[in-house]
Amino acid sequence: MSGKNVTEVVQAEPEGIARAARILESGGLVAVPTETVYGLAARADLPEAVARIYAAKGRPSFNPLIVHLRDVAQAERYAVLPDEARALMAVHWPGPLTVVLPRRADAPLADAVTAGLPTVALRAPAHPVMQALLAAVDFPLAAPSANRSGFISPTTPGHVLASLGGRIDLVLDGGACATGVESTIVAVREDGRIEQLRPGPVQVGEQGPTGGPVEARVEAPGQLASHYAPGKPVRLGALTAQPDEFLIGFGAVAGDVTLSASGDLNEAAARLYACLHEGARAPHPRIAVAPVPEEGIGLAINDRLQRAASPPDQG
Ligand code: AMP
Ligand code: MG
Repeated sequence: MSGKNVTEVVQAEPEGIARAARILESGGLVAVPTETVYGLAARADLPEAVARIYAAKGRPSFNPLIVHLRDVAQAERYAVLPDEARALMAVHWPGPLTVVLPRRADAPLADAVTAGLPTVALRAPAHPVMQALLAAVDFPLAAPSANRSGFISPTTPGHVLASLGGRIDLVLDGGACATGVESTIVAVREDGRIEQLRPGPVQVGEQGPTGGPVEARVEAPGQLASHYAPGKPVRLGALTAQPDEFLIGFGAVAGDVTLSASGDLNEAAARLYACLHEGARAPHPRIAVAPVPEEGIGLAINDRLQRAASPPDQG
């Protein structure tokens, strides 16, 4: 499966979705569109299938995977849900919010999914193709981003093939992803405390057990400093390009490409990885990126840009 040489691409229509469901049932790997980025899905209850995800991506085994499922009712089977988690899910599910929760001792999950942690990360995606797939199978799907570990996340089938072509069984082609950056991750502790582990499309305030805000931000264990890396140096906050730089613009800073000429942060998020892919492919030895405001989804954009700019030896 992960050693295959041919990766099929099919349209995300009923026939293609049915084919994807059969491949997943037999333990294969399928790249699936979500509203955030393309995910590399395998059945979360089968150790061999989950092992294939880590092998195809070259992902370190200590970096746990997000479990994608249909709804809160299905989530009950895998995690303990404090009221604070139910409240978040009621507002943000289906959607780009991942909730890290105490894992149920009897949860039917391959241990590698949680990398041996006592917690599990759950998300109910809003993309109709992912939803159709989850409705067609009777197991949840472990799905990290569909790229080689450490590289830029994919927002088109072309990005997936460039990174994982020949290493996975199938790509479900659902076009470009609308949101473009990975889900917000929050942890809800047994006492109801909420901690943000990764900024993303959904803004969730952190709360202590008494409902008051907490100061500390805890990093997700798999949040390596160097990630989303285009394979060449990246300089942030650039207003102009040096002669050897490919400039990714934003707003008034025009570049070789732009995240958003009008300065729209949602458009910038949707275009972020496509622009980084272009910079990676360009002949320029370096990439520069215009400043992006630290507000709303701009927090998630800047988080990913800082990781893209971190040298690998610091990862
Ligand atoms: P990716 O699917 O590639 O966006 O990565 C998934 C992210 O979810 C990684 O940063 C993981 O560290 C994080 N994650 C998954 N499971 C857990 C967990 N149980 N606790 C904390 N973070 C998690
Ligand atoms: Mg990833």
